Amino acid sequence: QAKKRGRNRCELESSAHGDPDDGRMNRRGELRRAIEDGELCLFYQPQIDLISGQMNGFEALVRWDHPDRGLLAPSAFIDFAEESGLILPLGAWVINAAVAQQAAWHRSASERPPVRMSINISAIQLNDPRLEEMVTEALERHGVAPGLLTLEVTETALTADPDAALRTLEILKALGVRLAIDDFGTGHSSLTYLKRFPIDELKIDRSFIAGLTTDSKDHAIVASCVQLAHATNLIAVAEGVETPTQLSALTELHCDLAQGYFYTRPMSAEDLEPWFIPRPENMRLDESQLVNQ
Ligand code: C2E
Ligand code: MG
Ligand code: MG
Ligand code: MG
Repeated sequence: QAKKRGRNRCELESSAHGDPDDGRMNRRGELRRAIEDGELCLFYQPQIDLISGQMNGFEALVRWDHPDRGLLAPSAFIDFAEESGLILPLGAWVINAAVAQQAAWHRSASERPPVRMSINISAIQLNDPRLEEMVTEALERHGVAPGLLTLEVTETALTADPDAALRTLEILKALGVRLAIDDFGTGHSSLTYLKRFPIDELKIDRSFIAGLTTDSKDHAIVASCVQLAHATNLIAVAEGVETPTQLSALTELHCDLAQGYFYTRPMSAEDLEPWFIPRPENMRLDESQLVNQ
């Protein structure tokens, strides 16, 4: 096994000088194997209700536990997965694994109210006619209520072919799942789509949150996004909240949920477990973690 991996790595490196297709094929084979051999895993990041201070839900984020390169973030392989078509089996793995994990949490804490989970759906998955069936099957197989699952799509995924996207979203919505626009404000979403699409949540991109307390334009943009969300009956979620001042600004703006390093980085399923227990220290705990970083 080690020999096989070593050889693949050499080929990947030498491909820079040789036939580029060789490297591509190897990369494809490597990612396909990763999906099949269980090298992918999910990390989870809590979304905190800004009124109660408790975890309201969490986002599942894929990682590749690479045998040689260690834990890889999506930026290292999602683009390639999309180009190579492997995003479909990868996305199918994510849907099933995330829903299975959520079901396990519900079973282990049936006395607590179930917590919502969000997963990311790429544009290519959104165009896949099998998406609806895949989501339905995962929910049924694991016995998770559709309303506890949110599918996050980016504006770009919606604007490439808006009519097709609308049809797909309506089908998904009919299943009872929730829908969110991810990275809101960075794509080319028009207000028409907000009106037409059956969306439940608007996730304000973290680039605006980054300047929230230092740049008056970012502050105005975030304020407008929250107002827009509420005016159209959507929940406003802030991404990438890193500081207590950003958090208090978001609270003042009546943003609903916040997610970010201020609370915690995405973490393993095991590490998320304490977050299910309602406790006021959750916030203070992570403030101290932030100081230690
Ligand atoms: P996203 O869906 O917008 O996810 C949020 C990203 O922001 C995550 O990066 C998260 O770790 C990061 N983040 C959270 N809080 C903070 C913060 O306070 N500061 C900063 N600087 N970053 C923060 P991650 O996990 O590396 O994922 C990156 C992107 O990869 C995701 O962006 C999503 O577009 C994509 N992705 C992740 N998992 C999946 C998946 O299962 N399927 C698909 N298709 N795409 C995925
Ligand atoms: Mg997301
Ligand atoms: Mg996002
Ligand atoms: Mg993003």
